[in-house]
Amino acid sequence: MKKIELPEDVRFIIDRICKSQHEAFAVGGCVRDALFGLKPHDYDITTDCSPQETEALFSEFKIIETGIRHGTVTVMINHQPYEITTYRKETSYSDHRHPDNVSFTGNIEDDLSRRDFTINAMAYNDSVGLVDPFNGLEDLNKGIIRCVGIAERRFEEDALRILRCLRFSSRFNFRIEEATSKALFEKKELLKFVSVERIAVELNQIICSDNAEKYLTEYKDVFVSAIPQIINADFTDLDDLNKDLKTRLTALFFKNENGLSECESMLRYLHYSNEVINEALSLLRHKNDSLNTVNEIKLFLTDEDISTLKRLIDLNVNILKEPYLSVYDDIDMISDKLIARSELEVTGDDLKQIGLTGKDIGIALENVYKLVITGKLANDKKTIIEYVKREMN
Ligand code: ATP
Ligand code: MG
Repeated sequence: MKKIELPEDVRFIIDRICKSQHEAFAVGGCVRDALFGLKPHDYDITTDCSPQETEALFSEFKIIETGIRHGTVTVMINHQPYEITTYRKETSYSDHRHPDNVSFTGNIEDDLSRRDFTINAMAYNDSVGLVDPFNGLEDLNKGIIRCVGIAERRFEEDALRILRCLRFSSRFNFRIEEATSKALFEKKELLKFVSVERIAVELNQIICSDNAEKYLTEYKDVFVSAIPQIINADFTDLDDLNKDLKTRLTALFFKNENGLSECESMLRYLHYSNEVINEALSLLRHKNDSLNTVNEIKLFLTDEDISTLKRLIDLNVNILKEPYLSVYDDIDMISDKLIARSELEVTGDDLKQIGLTGKDIGIALENVYKLVITGKLANDKKTIIEYVKREMN
């Protein structure tokens, strides 16, 4: 019998349910990851107990009821949430996204049959072992993503599965089984029924995977159906970049002449935060900055954070194929030693006293600051005042 090492709290939950004349299994992602040799990041439990029965069985623990309409009771054990969901069967899906209604079932195989891919449709407990009616283990061993049941129908029911398919295959670098792959293309137009927020969640994972270039390129038509603005994006060398979302989103448009406006329109369409959008736009605006010397780097850092500088270097080197310079090894040190504007030995008041007014004060201060940090002027009140006076004449 196939054995999976379940954590103590998960065994405790399953044991308690099984002792009450019911059954319970670990299910889905945790079974897949454990069989694949990865540490599951969480454990979902599936059971024939009704949500009310589950609540009664774990009444001494804190319970969160948010998912109860869908049969999910979240039990907090040792500060860890465990989702315990009643076996479900789903009926029709008229909006291509959500089941019209959820009905409970007493049969684990029914519950597994509503799940998206064979590798996600396995359940396990220590007494029964692996429940694997769709040969998920074989697909896992062979590295195959395959829909449970008829692929077209499964994507018609819930179009988000199209992107989930690409998410799992890019995460594991698994081949997409033929009928499933064909259905991805055939049903791609249904992606218009998926909310932009959900599309972004899937894109984030795919774009930050080890195999982003391959899957984005091969399934570009599918992605264009979900995100029309991605049509001119360039996926080349994406995997060489750090797995940093802002860098990788920007990279899609980094070589593109109209990159700035296309990137902005994609990010706004997908409702990314202003923080993400502003960073991408900063990177694209600074695309042609020269960053070859210590002083150029210092000047860059007067306007932007060091995190932006690091992203820009990553993009310049890996996307634009510019050389990696040895000075880039020192940017943390350069940044640490950089004199702050507040450390300048003159203030606006000092400049007022020698006759500067209005906007000229700010302009002069900024000018002096840049000269000081690049070592062209000493940070000394007398020297700076003399310099400004000279410039005024
Ligand atoms: P991850 O490691 O990304 O969390 P996961 O497999 O746990 O992977 P979840 O989104 O957490 O993915 O979903 C848990 C399980 O619920 C899946 O393994 C799958 O069995 C099922 N599932 C989730 N979303 C769908 C869906 N849209 N259609 C069918 N089954 C789904
Ligand atoms: Mg999960």
